[in-house]
Amino acid sequence: MKYELAPLPYAYDALAPVISEEIMKLHHDKHHAAYVNGANAALEKLEKARNGEVEIDIKAVLRDLSFNVNGHVLHQMFWENMRAPQENNVPTGAVKEALEKSFGSVESFQKQFGAAAKAVEGSGWALLVADTDKNLMMIQIEKQNFMHVAGFTPILGIDVWEHAYYLDYKNDRGAYVDAWWKLVNWDDIERRLAS
Ligand code: MN
Repeated sequence: MKYELAPLPYAYDALAPVISEEIMKLHHDKHHAAYVNGANAALEKLEKARNGEVEIDIKAVLRDLSFNVNGHVLHQMFWENMRAPQENNVPTGAVKEALEKSFGSVESFQKQFGAAAKAVEGSGWALLVADTDKNLMMIQIEKQNFMHVAGFTPILGIDVWEHAYYLDYKNDRGAYVDAWWKLVNWDDIERRLAS
């Protein structure tokens, strides 16, 4: 098996001015690509070790595999979670209902999720996760290491590594997180919630 880097589902400048073309090019073509290559390199090392061609530090290689596969899967979701900026970009239908059921209201979800994203220490993500009964929870992750909640799958994530915003927002992560809501593709979240 081999991972592949899919093209973005929109043009590099589609998310501007919230996220610039320059960031999207670097983020997708360099950072995301590096996770895909890293995942494939780790898989290859494991295969060679099974064939007796090389000796490996299995703990280090599996940690590397986890970091890079998570990086790949999270970025793929992150791209699909976004679309061109829209004012008053609010969820409707099943997503709205699920957010209200789990968090009281859409506004209280956004407030707490934004706070989670802003408070990630160093590099990481804030994720919205769902179980098959459409119960929602939010989690924070450091770097790309899952703080897994058994039975829950990520359906929405925001990347708050500096590479995701620094060229546009410098050290003002809060401004990036606040503007990012304009990009959320609620139709994609609805599709993920239903699957
Ligand atoms: Mn990233």
